[in-house]
Parts: sequence; C-alpha cells; structure tokens
Amino acid sequence: MSEHCLFCKIVRKEIPAKIVHEDDDCVVFHDIHPAAPVHLLMIPKQHILSLQTVKPEDAAWLGRMMTLAPGLALANGCIPGPEGGFRLLANSGRDGGQEVDHLHFHIIGGKRPWQGRTAPNA
Ligand code: 5GP
Ligand code: ZN
Repeated sequence: MSEHCLFCKIVRKEIPAKIVHEDDDCVVFHDIHPAAPVHLLMIPKQHILSLQTVKPEDAAWLGRMMTLAPGLALANGCIPGPEGGFRLLANSGRDGGQEVDHLHFHIIGGKRPWQGRTAPNA
C-alpha cells in the first residue's frame, strides 16, 4: 500500500468508486471518465507501479486477473461473441500514457463508435 496513491485509497475505501468486483488479488471499478459505454479499471490490491515493475513471481496473481477480464466485460455490458468483445489495455510509464502510478488494466467495450482518448484506434 502507498499512503498517497489514488488507487490504493480506492482499495482501502477511503475514496468512493463504483466497485463491480473484489477478491484477494484485485479490485475492479468503473472509470470516472469512461471512454466507451463500458469502461472498467482492474487493479491489484498491492501497490505495483506498472507492468514495467512486474516480476516473474507475479505471474500467478497477474494470470488470475487476466482470466477474470472476459467475465467482467460481459457482466458489465460488453457484447458477447466475435462481433462484440472488449479492449484490455495497460498504459505503462509516461511514454505509455500512464497517468496513475498504480498498475491498472482498462477493460473497454460496448457498442461502437466510442468517444474519447482511448478510442477507437488508439
Ligand atoms: P491511465 O491514463 O493512467 O492509463 O488511466 C488512469 C485512469 O484512471 C483514467 O482513465 C481516469 O479516468 C481514471 N481515474 C482517474 N482518477 C480516478 C478516480 O478518482 N476514480 C476513478 N474511478 N477513476 C479515475
Ligand atoms: Zn497504489
């Protein structure tokens, strides 16, 4: 945990978020500025800066998070099947466009066209 980190504060419930899933590894909540009809953020409970700092020993919880993404996408309004789907995105570091320094995966989907900075072909 990092005292002043925005996403650690969401994990600790010190600031509100629309949480759609929580388990021992992660918290998943709605992005405050959605770039598409469905826009979730999936974060580890541990304070990990970004994918740049992930290590081989992180494979198990990272893998568990990845396997959650499709079900969360569907449960929150993404369209099923090959005509639907979702985007899973982890901006990493400043050159990667990361603004919040706590690892997070964007789960983005819903009927196109999407509006905003993450869409449609960014
Ligand atoms: P990044 O640009 O770091 O990949 O994405 C950070 C994301 O966090 C942005 O999409 C932004 O809208 C979202 N965000 C920033 N502050 C908050 C907040 O306080 N609550 C929620 N739910 N999302 C936030
Ligand atoms: Zn943090």
